[in-house]
Amino acid sequence: MRTPRLSATTGLVLLTAAATTLTTGPLRAQTARTPRSAAQAKPTALESGVDRLAASPAVVAAMQAIQKDNAWTLDQQASLCEIPAPPFKETQRAAAYAQRLRQLGVQNVRTDSEGNVIGEIRGNRPGPTLLLAGHLDTVFPEGTDVSVKREGTKLIGPGIGDDCRGLAVVLVVAKQIITQKIPFNGRLLVSGNVGEEGPGNLRGVRALFNKTLKDSIDLFISVDGTGIGITNGGVGSNRYRVHYKGPGGHSYGAFGMPNPIHAMGRAIAKIADLEATTKPKVTFNVGIVTGGTSVNSIPFEAAMDIDLRSESAAALAEIDARLQKTLRDALAEEKARWPNSKAALQLVIDTIGIRPAGTTPDSTFIVRAALASARSMNLYAPLTTSSTDANVPMNLGIPAVTLDGGGVGRGAHSLDESYDDRSDGYKGPQWVLLVTLSLLTQR
Ligand SMILES: [Zn+2]
Repeated sequence: MRTPRLSATTGLVLLTAAATTLTTGPLRAQTARTPRSAAQAKPTALESGVDRLAASPAVVAAMQAIQKDNAWTLDQQASLCEIPAPPFKETQRAAAYAQRLRQLGVQNVRTDSEGNVIGEIRGNRPGPTLLLAGHLDTVFPEGTDVSVKREGTKLIGPGIGDDCRGLAVVLVVAKQIITQKIPFNGRLLVSGNVGEEGPGNLRGVRALFNKTLKDSIDLFISVDGTGIGITNGGVGSNRYRVHYKGPGGHSYGAFGMPNPIHAMGRAIAKIADLEATTKPKVTFNVGIVTGGTSVNSIPFEAAMDIDLRSESAAALAEIDARLQKTLRDALAEEKARWPNSKAALQLVIDTIGIRPAGTTPDSTFIVRAALASARSMNLYAPLTTSSTDANVPMNLGIPAVTLDGGGVGRGAHSLDESYDDRSDGYKGPQWVLLVTLSLLTQR
């Protein structure tokens, strides 16, 4: 998911309910940079090439069909969303997605051992392999009412924007490339992948790049989020559950031994004082603390959840090293406070999530093609930094972006999530189609 978002039409930051309800997923779009103004300069060779592509008969026909067939896209989005896909339980939605890809004429549709659905559309000549994906999983547990309500142009239901919109966009792009027989070079792989959200920790895309499709992907686009925007900076995160443990005892009778909560308090005070740079942006957070059983017991355990983030892998590794030292120092200080105590005090660090950081520089072909396609369609597409499936290829040095799927989304990760198609939601899939074809024709 992606939030808060920059509105494509107003440029205002839209704070959605997700900002407060988000417990497992990353908070996205920490920065937004303005792309080169289209009006300022004469078109580059790439921009002219994309304009010519957009004016070619097959692409014009596909663009018109996407607009005319908009109800089909919305039906796909709503009906996929009514198939539950809790974290690690995406099988049912995956099967439906595979079925729909086959019906569209996508070839070699299969499901890998992780649960990702993958299909293939072959181009006319040799060229790069582009993987275009939306994620199947939601943040909602089993038993959630996933029925979708319609109010005018608005669809309301858990996951309707994040990422049923992306799944529908991938379908309609594949449909039009096949139906209009649009020529291109190389291979277009399309995927509904598992495990994007917090608990899944990008497991689906990790499996695609490290196993299923290892060394065979040249370019990656994830369609995730609403509006029109390009995510080309991937915020990495390291998340830990840290425990301090001891024997515990009576607060009066056993006094004089290390106290796990005191040790954790020392650690938190040190974490609060960590230095963090703003360029690159580095963040740290103790988000949950637990421990203790009663006011008159020395606790046997204290625990806290910590989240570290940066778009720079080096900066993330650096603050991680300082955090680990801080945790050990707090342990040593609490032990040293009671030198005569024989009671043990232990530090246990569980990793609860690692998301790799990475960046696809503004100057790369994939970013320029996405901007040139927006320019060609007269759309404003800001460049943003957040945490998405594209983090994985970015970290591997493979050109990757996450594109928004059009429309206006609200309340991602909440039960009253909505997607409003308004009058021009179809421009999302039109744009994704043009970016996809640019990448497979313009070099
Ligand atoms: Zn998402």
